[in-house]
Amino acid sequence: MYVMSRRGNRQLVLDNYIYKRNEVSAVKTFWICTSYPVTRCRARVATVASMGDAVIPVCREHNHAPHTGKILQRLREQSMF
Ligand SMILES: [Zn+2]
Repeated sequence: MYVMSRRGNRQLVLDNYIYKRNEVSAVKTFWICTSYPVTRCRARVATVASMGDAVIPVCREHNHAPHTGKILQRLREQSMF
């Protein structure tokens, strides 16, 4: 699932956490946890476009609570468009 950030960037939602795009290679797109600047959270995932955007977890260890409230808020905002 994807949501849009307030700046209009696509963000990845997985297991109640929000990730932002970090690095794009020819094969994979890497996403880092949006809490990284705040908590130095090291969780990352990769998606593979050629496999229908299949999600490959790189590191699933978060050092903070899930972004559940934030996700619901985003979805509510975006359903207005
Ligand atoms: Zn995290």
